[in-house]
Amino acid sequence: MQQTIKQNIFEKALQRPTVFKDKNLITPHHIPQELPFRDKQIEEIMHNLAHTLHGAKADNIFVYGVTGCGKTCVTKHVMQQLIEFAKAKNVPVDGCYINCRTHSSKYRVLIKAVQEFYPSENFMGYSATFVHEKLINYASEGREVVIVLDEIDMVKDVDDLVYELTRANDEIGKGSISIIGISNNLRFRDNLDPRTKSSLCEHELVFPPYNAEELYEILRQRTEVAFKPKAVQNSAISLSAAFAAKESGDARTAVMLLLRAGELADKKGSEKVSDDEVMQAKCRVEEELIFNMIDTMPKHQKLVLYTIAKLSMEKKPMKTLAGVERKGVLFSGEVYDEYCGVAKGFGESTVSTRWYRQYISELELYGLITTTASGKGMKGQTRFIKLGYEPRRIFESVEKEFK
Ligand code: ADP
Ligand code: MG
Repeated sequence: MQQTIKQNIFEKALQRPTVFKDKNLITPHHIPQELPFRDKQIEEIMHNLAHTLHGAKADNIFVYGVTGCGKTCVTKHVMQQLIEFAKAKNVPVDGCYINCRTHSSKYRVLIKAVQEFYPSENFMGYSATFVHEKLINYASEGREVVIVLDEIDMVKDVDDLVYELTRANDEIGKGSISIIGISNNLRFRDNLDPRTKSSLCEHELVFPPYNAEELYEILRQRTEVAFKPKAVQNSAISLSAAFAAKESGDARTAVMLLLRAGELADKKGSEKVSDDEVMQAKCRVEEELIFNMIDTMPKHQKLVLYTIAKLSMEKKPMKTLAGVERKGVLFSGEVYDEYCGVAKGFGESTVSTRWYRQYISELELYGLITTTASGKGMKGQTRFIKLGYEPRRIFESVEKEFK
């Protein structure tokens, strides 16, 4: 009997033509070695951290700026360089990077830190005191330790965390712990406890948003390494840069636009990425960024957003005293009341109005809602809330998770 040798089905996928040379290099996770337009910030962090190489504590730094302005990649880059250099020179300097979106309490942050420093041990379930001691011991062996707390505003008990890490230095003989806190939330700093603020913000560093020309240059450099020669038209790069510049100068959006545009070109079997693909990618990227953000929100913030979406769909248009109809406009108070009902319905506890207000102000900062003070023309003083996005999609995506 004759045997037919069939081609493996993946062979076809591998042979498909593609516009990419190395697709990994155009994902937002990739940290490029070159970070144009951030020399000043790199230098400033570097100078401050250089103290650790002389056996001294670095100042705590607070880094802030809008999403996608390079805070994470710049800080990671400088830390990588520091640790590499310290290792090569045999200097006792160490550090770790913690994303507080996923490690959102003092305990979790400390666990994550000791886990990084003692990778072969498992600290899950150990008491906070034990974990604290472990961290202190690590530094007390003469190490200058730098802990990066990215998206530090996500830590529930951030005042306690900063206090504990700062005070730890009193217990450490030779060695130190310093912090780099990073936040996209420009209001976070002003809401800190004064003592936390003065500890954390010994040194402050603002990252300005990128403008369209800067984004163009960032994308151009990235295109050269990630795409095949001449695969991306210059006008497509300009268009991506212009879109992202309008979205508050966000390099992540810019990078994602070109990535998705490239994928679309591949799908069509086109050898070029043109304006068309960028336009088509735009809606998808916007949606992707929004849903990524929702995905990583704290549980109750999601429920507040869900409630806003639910009420936006259910509520009849509101009439102002002047008789003007306003569709999808909600009262802050009614949203809170409804949220309490929704949370209970899902078998969850509820957060206080203080947290509720904090969540609302963050949702506004993320551009998911707009709020206005009622001012005159309405009974009493309240805030109006309006969803800035299609309610059904949000409603369905959150509901899936809780049902
Ligand atoms: P932030 O932390 O401020 O939100 P990131 O550091 O995550 O922003 O940057 C988002 C993405 O944009 C990064 O993954 C990186 O690919 C890209 N990026 C940001 N700044 C630069 C830069 N100066 N040069 C090259 N790429 C950059
Ligand atoms: Mg970041």
